Amino acid sequence: MATSGLNANDKNSVSPPLWLLAELTYRCPLQCPYCSNPLDFARSQQELTTEQWIEVFRQARELGAAQLGFSGGEPLVRQDLPELVRAARDLGYYTNLITSGIGLTDDKIVLLSDMGLDHIQVSFQAADEEVNNMLAGSKKAFAQKLAMARAVKAQGYPMVLNFVTHRHNIDRIDRIIELCIELDADYVELATCQFYGWADLNKAELLPTREQLQRAEAVTQQWREKLAQQNHPCKLIFVAPDYYDERPKACMSGWGSLFLDITPDGTALPCHSARQLPIEFPNVKDHSIEHIWRVSGGFNHFRGHDWMPEPCRSCDEKEKDYGGCRCQAYMLTGDAANADPVCSKSPHHDLILDIRAQAQRTISDPSRLVYRNEKASQAIIARG
Ligand code: SF4
Ligand code: SF4
Repeated sequence: MATSGLNANDKNSVSPPLWLLAELTYRCPLQCPYCSNPLDFARSQQELTTEQWIEVFRQARELGAAQLGFSGGEPLVRQDLPELVRAARDLGYYTNLITSGIGLTDDKIVLLSDMGLDHIQVSFQAADEEVNNMLAGSKKAFAQKLAMARAVKAQGYPMVLNFVTHRHNIDRIDRIIELCIELDADYVELATCQFYGWADLNKAELLPTREQLQRAEAVTQQWREKLAQQNHPCKLIFVAPDYYDERPKACMSGWGSLFLDITPDGTALPCHSARQLPIEFPNVKDHSIEHIWRVSGGFNHFRGHDWMPEPCRSCDEKEKDYGGCRCQAYMLTGDAANADPVCSKSPHHDLILDIRAQAQRTISDPSRLVYRNEKASQAIIARG
């Protein structure tokens, strides 16, 4: 891979990419209809080799990266995961495996722990076996996840569980939290679906109503109070969808600010959804990480504030939210430079109001969900 040819001034002008996400593969045995992977992931068959990944880790660490997440697809599909974990540990990263638990075994957990893996997050689709397996597109997924969550804890890791909530499971949030307590979880992320990739395709079937969301938040708060009274260590983190907010999220804490995502084929992105934008993003096979982060057009496109049109340009909140999410602006308005339509100051905010109204009118029908799999991705590619 290339090395950088920057001068000292260039090198000092941009903060380091503290958070490196390695999307090792788009292969995954599950088919979640809310997966944030690109709709055309089937196009991307090439994956970086073990040596190329380790070189990415080395260069990013040199630039200041400290946290490394192994993600995908399902990262356990990569047979070289233990080797990659060892290399990351030797470089001094704090490492996190983000997994569905499918493909994990007791022996693999021990091996990954021996290689120096710091943290494992296991995701569930629901607390009910039938719903979980329906959403995962696998009859065996739930039992495997339960066994592996317990095995992760038995190996001495904190139990970190992630549930993506949406219209089809959010009314069972009580049961989700009960399951987490039964499993002796330490941290639970109850993350309401955000609408990128396959989730955006399935938005009408996934977006909860405002009432569903408010009830779920209230139930979570009641559980927090109950757990606090019992001095229970489990922390419940509730992430609401920004579609019901009046201000957008500070997406990635700012474009090219601290987050660096490397996709399976080596394309470098400032967030995992950015590939859909009409911007040319660099590849680690052609450029050094330093060039990608500090100099490349893709990473400088929306850095800072100079690119902002009104109303963000003269807004006194722009330091807080950076104008929101560029992908959301692009998906909803066709122009990634627009203010995120979630913002009530955006001239496009009516698009969000329409989506909320549509959610109120929708009568759920899970048979309309499009599952994320190779066949569906090929069909989407063929349709253009
Ligand atoms: S969201 Fe589901 S389908 Fe997508 S990578 Fe994760 S487990 Fe696989
Ligand atoms: S106008 Fe732009 S900067 Fe101001 S709050 Fe809305 S999105 Fe944020």
